[in-house]
Amino acid sequence: MQIFTIFVPRNIDHYDVSFINGLYILTNSMKIITLGRTGLKVNKNGFGALPIQRISMKKAVFLLQEAYDNGINFYDTARFYTDSEEKIGAAFADRRDKVIIASKTGAQNTTDFWKDLHQTLRNLKTDYLDLYQFHNPPFCPRPGDKSGIYDAIKVAQRQGKVRFIGISNHRISVAKEAVDKGLYDTLQYPFSYLSSSGDEKIVENTRKRGMGFICMKALAGGLITDSALAYAFLNQFDHVLPIWGVQCKSELEEFISYQTNPPELSSSSWRKIEKDRMELAHDFCRGCGYCMPCPAGIQICDCARMSLFLHRAPLSVYLTEEWAEKMKKIEDCKHCNACREKCPYSLDTPTLLQKNYEDFKVFWKQKAKNAL
Ligand code: SF4
Ligand code: SF4
Repeated sequence: MQIFTIFVPRNIDHYDVSFINGLYILTNSMKIITLGRTGLKVNKNGFGALPIQRISMKKAVFLLQEAYDNGINFYDTARFYTDSEEKIGAAFADRRDKVIIASKTGAQNTTDFWKDLHQTLRNLKTDYLDLYQFHNPPFCPRPGDKSGIYDAIKVAQRQGKVRFIGISNHRISVAKEAVDKGLYDTLQYPFSYLSSSGDEKIVENTRKRGMGFICMKALAGGLITDSALAYAFLNQFDHVLPIWGVQCKSELEEFISYQTNPPELSSSSWRKIEKDRMELAHDFCRGCGYCMPCPAGIQICDCARMSLFLHRAPLSVYLTEEWAEKMKKIEDCKHCNACREKCPYSLDTPTLLQKNYEDFKVFWKQKAKNAL
């Protein structure tokens, strides 16, 4: 009698079963892409681990392992995301070689660089990172520059602590330089169907140069509300890896469902994309938060997008006393221009805030009128 051990994946729904030559073959229709010259094979759905800071350790470990059980193998975190690294460490310490872990350092000198790297490795319960990225530096780190961080990351790579080197950035000028200089294996940069032609050129140039492109803000900081459309748009770019920021099971399931039923880019999808592009053709706040904190206590990254929210989301969510109070804070603006100087998209933030406040007041008045 012959005894066979049959491995059944935990989530069998994601596999197609066929019977060939007397054997049951399980195949998975998930899209796997290669992350540029790193050669890393990753599921087209990446996991952005910024939002898991907001949930408990227990919930985060459950969510991460649920993602893993459904084929997601790329996890992006950062030293800056408080306990996100620790949560990833707790979820994957027992299967380290099965997942690809990327983290980031915001260090701008070698002392901080080594401090961050060692802390990150401890948090993640590992002795190496698959990808280590400079986290949105205001310049493009290069060999021999005065910060010394590029030379330090090369040392870490030689020591086996870092497999590949990447950079994340919100500034088009730094991103361009990173691509042109050929010093990085990957670029992490905001990209969605609302991005400019200049951004799209960066995406194309990373492909030409064999760099992996890790796509952040694929939902444009919450302005794109149709995740299927966002996924379908990015699915056209084979070297692009979106990292979806999820913090609950239903959000995760939404993206997992696209693995077996990938949304198509139909003519009606393109009409919707064009409509959104028309509405957001001018410069808009991406909600990245790099202009924060504000000395007057204004929640800039939300308040500077209020008009867009009012036109694109249910009014009841934003026409509340709580939001009215936050928007009123704009009256306290000291016009110090600190936010304007820090905005990587060169937005005239104080003016944008005023415009959003005026718009909010119109909607607020209308709400009061309707209540009479
Ligand atoms: S200009 Fe106004 S909104 Fe901007 S940082 Fe200064 S006080 Fe805050
Ligand atoms: S104003 Fe600029 S820096 Fe501030 S949240 Fe918006 S896009 Fe980011």
